Amino acid sequence: MKTVNESECLFCRIRDGEIPAEIIYREDGVLAFRDIDPQAPVHVLIIPEKHIDSLSRTENADVDLLGRICRAAALLARRESIEQSGYRLVVNSGPDAGQAVDHLHFHLLGGRALGWPPG
Ligand code: AMP
Ligand code: ZN
Repeated sequence: MKTVNESECLFCRIRDGEIPAEIIYREDGVLAFRDIDPQAPVHVLIIPEKHIDSLSRTENADVDLLGRICRAAALLARRESIEQSGYRLVVNSGPDAGQAVDHLHFHLLGGRALGWPPG
């Protein structure tokens, strides 16, 4: 598994304001912004501000951070008015899952019926 240099990491650059994004949440080391290619009416990416390559690279010390990301997802689902209709929180990890950006991110998707299982 390769390690990505922060200066070359797209999401670190969004975090640092070097690449524009529609940021909708930033608190306690957690950042959320709208996906540039939304796959549902609501498609938000929630990331740790610190660079972690993938879920597989998290450590026990990241448990609180991971919890805050999940709580941010629940809060944003409410704010985006998809709490009642339903939503999905997805992490792609590694090639078979199609992880394209090597900075841990959670996809919050909602606003339409989502198929299962994923293709
Ligand atoms: P994944 O395939 O799980 O790695 O997801 C990467 C996501 O990042 C995709 O849904 C992309 O549409 C999204 N993405 C790529 N570039 C940007 C960007 N500049 N701003 C916001 N989202 C992006
Ligand atoms: Zn990064």
